[in-house]
Amino acid sequence: MSEGAVKKEEKPRKFQAIRGTRDLLPPETALWSRVEQTAHEVFATFGYGEIRPPIFEATELFARGVGGDTDIVSKEMYTFVDRSEKLEPDPSIGSMNVFFQKVRELFKSGEIPTDEQDEAALKIAEDQWKKVDDLLEGGLKSESAGTEIYKLVLFYDALRLGTRVSLRPEATASVCRAYIEHNMQQLPQPVKLYYMGPMFRRERPQKGRYRQFYQIGAEILGGPDAPAIDAELIEMLMTFFDKCGLQGTELSINSIGHAADNCRRDYVAKLKAKLEKVKDKLGADSQRRIETNPLRVLDSKLEHEQPIIATLPRIADNLCDDCKTHYAAVKHELELRGVIYRENWRLVRGLDYYMRTTFEITAQGLGSQNAVCGGGRYDGLVELLGGPPTKGIGFAIGEDRLILSLQESGKAPVAQGRDVYIAWMGENARATAVRAAKTLRNAGFSVELPPVEQKFGKALGQADKLGAKYALILGDNEVTSGEWTLKTLADGTQRKVSEQQLLDSLQKM
Ligand code: ATP
Ligand code: MG
Repeated sequence: MSEGAVKKEEKPRKFQAIRGTRDLLPPETALWSRVEQTAHEVFATFGYGEIRPPIFEATELFARGVGGDTDIVSKEMYTFVDRSEKLEPDPSIGSMNVFFQKVRELFKSGEIPTDEQDEAALKIAEDQWKKVDDLLEGGLKSESAGTEIYKLVLFYDALRLGTRVSLRPEATASVCRAYIEHNMQQLPQPVKLYYMGPMFRRERPQKGRYRQFYQIGAEILGGPDAPAIDAELIEMLMTFFDKCGLQGTELSINSIGHAADNCRRDYVAKLKAKLEKVKDKLGADSQRRIETNPLRVLDSKLEHEQPIIATLPRIADNLCDDCKTHYAAVKHELELRGVIYRENWRLVRGLDYYMRTTFEITAQGLGSQNAVCGGGRYDGLVELLGGPPTKGIGFAIGEDRLILSLQESGKAPVAQGRDVYIAWMGENARATAVRAAKTLRNAGFSVELPPVEQKFGKALGQADKLGAKYALILGDNEVTSGEWTLKTLADGTQRKVSEQQLLDSLQKM
C-alpha cells in the first residue's frame, strides 16, 4: 500500500450535528439574543423573576408532570440511567458476590430507586449468578456453560442500577418541582417565574420542529385563580410578541372546564359516547385516543375527520356555572387590556390537570408548524407533584419558530460589521496599533486588529470584506509624524488625526 493510501484510510471521521439538532450561528444568534433580551425586559416590567432549572431531572417527574399517556412521555423523551457511583462500573466475575450484595444495600437505602420490576430483575440476575458460580466450581465443564454466562451478561445489562433521568421535554414540571422544593408557597403569592432554554423531544425533524429546541416560558404559581391573572399573563405575552416585531399573530382562547368538578368529567363522558358512535369513520390515532384521551381528538388535523369533529359536542355548552363565569370574566379582562382574541372551542390540552383557560398563538410564515406558543391553567399540578394545593397558569413559547417567523418577515439582522479596521505595517506601528485598539474598544467601538502585518492594499480589501466603516492606517510615516490616517471606507475620503483626536473624531463621525 502506498503512503498516500494509508493516509487516506486514516482520515478522521467527519462529525455532524445529531439529527434534529443544529448550530445557531452568527448573524442569526444576534436575533436570538435580541429576542431573549426583549423577554427579560418585558417580563421584568410585569414583575417576573428568572428561574434556571436543570436540563435533566428524574424521569418520574416528567412522567407525572407531563402525563404518562402523552406522546412526549411515551415516546419522545431522551432517557438514560444515571448509574450509582457507589457501584463498581465493571465488576469482575470474581467479585460478583460482593457486587450483588452492594446492589441490595443500595436498593434498600433508596440510593437506587426501585419498583417491583427492578426487584424482579435483580432476583433473576442473582439467581443466574448462582448458577454460573456453581458451573465455575465445576471448572466450567458443562456444555451449557457458555449459554449460562451469556445469560448472566444479559440479565446484568438489564439491571437498572441508578436513577432514571430524562432530558427535559418542557419546563413546567421543573418549575413546579422547584416551587415545592424551595417552599415558595411561603413567599408573597403568587410567585411569577420565567425561564428560557433548550428542551428535548424525539420527534420527526422538519421545518419548525427539532429534537433540541428552545422555549421561553412563564408560570404563575399560588395566589387566587382570578381571571385577571389569566388575562394579564396573556397581555404580557402579546406585549412581548409585539416588541419582538412578530407579524400576523393570532390568539385563540378556550375554556376546558373544571377537572375536579363535574363539568369537565361530564363533558368528556358525553364526548366519548359520541366518539364511540363515529369510531369507524376516524383514523387510527383518534380511535386510540377515544380510550386514552378523548379531548385530544378535537386537536386532529386530519382532513377526513374534520366534518365529524364539527358534529361533536362542544365544551362551551357544557361548562358549569363557575367555569362559565370565569371564562366570561377572562374575556372581559382581555378586552379591558385591548387584547384581541378569537375563541376556538377545539383548543384543548390533553392533560387532566389542565383546566379552564387554554390558549395558543400562531404567527405567519411557518407553514403547518405555525403555533408559536401554547399555554393554560393547571391548578392541580403542584399538588400532583407532592406540593400543597396551588393555583397555576403558564405558557411556553417556541423560540425557534418565533425566530423563523421573524426571519420570514424580513426581521433578520445583517452580519455584524466592524467600526474600525486597523491597517498597520512595521514594528513601530504594531505597538501603536495595539494601543489604539485598546483605547477604541474601551470606548465601545468594535475593532479588528490583524494579528500579522499585511500590505496596506490587502488590509483595506480585508476591511471591506468585513464591512468595516473606517480604516485606521498606521505605517512608519504616521507613527513618526504622529499624524494618523483615518479613512472612511464607503466614500474613500481620508483625514489626518492625532492620537488625542482619534476618539473624538470617531465619536463625531
Ligand atoms: P405542536 O402541536 O406544534 O407539536 P406542542 O403542543 O407539542 O406543539 P407545547 O408542548 O405546548 O407544544 O410547547 C409550546 C411551544 O413549543 C409550541 O407551540 C411550539 O412553538 C414549540 N415546540 C414544541 N415542540 C417543538 C419542537 N419539537 N421543535 C420546535 N418547537 C417546538
Ligand atoms: Mg408536539
